Amino acid sequence: MLNMLYQSCVHFMRRTQRVLSAAHQLAVVIALGALASPTPAAGNAPDTEMWRLDCGEMIIEDISYFSDTHAYDGQSATIINGCYLVRNGDRYLLWDAGLPPELLGNTEAEGGWTSSIKVTIVDQLSAIGLSPEDIDFLGVSHFHGDHIGQASDFRQSTLLMSRADASWIRNNPPGNARRRMSAWFESDVLLTEFARDHDVFGDSSVTILAMPGHTPGHSALLVRLPKTGPVLLTGDLYHFRKEIGQRNVSRWNTSRADTLASIERFEGLQEAMKPTVIVQHEPDDFGKLPPFPQSAK
Ligand SMILES: [Zn+2]
Repeated sequence: MLNMLYQSCVHFMRRTQRVLSAAHQLAVVIALGALASPTPAAGNAPDTEMWRLDCGEMIIEDISYFSDTHAYDGQSATIINGCYLVRNGDRYLLWDAGLPPELLGNTEAEGGWTSSIKVTIVDQLSAIGLSPEDIDFLGVSHFHGDHIGQASDFRQSTLLMSRADASWIRNNPPGNARRRMSAWFESDVLLTEFARDHDVFGDSSVTILAMPGHTPGHSALLVRLPKTGPVLLTGDLYHFRKEIGQRNVSRWNTSRADTLASIERFEGLQEAMKPTVIVQHEPDDFGKLPPFPQSAK
């Protein structure tokens, strides 16, 4: 409740053109308070839709590091970088910020990884009439470079990050994550941290789910769409669709035990909710949402 009031105040100050809307939302929050149902009532689902954005591609010569049981020794792979835009009423969440913008027209080959982007997030937003100032929240599954590359283009947005990942950034020597997200870590005004799950819009339509293990505070995203139904974005809990149902752990994950616990949670959610599952790095999951600029509703 306090967090929602805080967010409303931040947005109220930041964008005067939304004063009436923000005040209305604040009034609704105050009026309903703790009485608000945690699950949207049938037929009264929040006005929510989502888009899949193109955030790059990586060709990896050796994917042995993706398994600590040597399941991928001698294999290579091409993976994609998915970012997602979610609208709830007149508020927007950008989920993950992809590869860096300087890769546009400038493919990078380093250490057997070839990384490229064809278009920036900002350019894709402009195609549907949005600018970075319209994005209320930037949520990131974790702080690795292929998920935060374009974050600084959204420095006016509130960054949503697990407390464990934020602490990791603060307590380790400044690196790429600190540099790409300096706008938030030099001042905590627009940084919202949470210990476990986080209800982004306060109506259960979009929930950041604690799925630690890849990083200390790695997260997945559950989006409940009115027509499509639940959509579950895996972050990097899995890198390939074939891993679902397996118990594979990448060698660079920060905790094997946490990863296995997160896989167990994921499998429980999958069983209970029957969501559309999107492995964010999986090219074969590209077609699970309509092609941009179409949205899933
Ligand atoms: Zn990744």
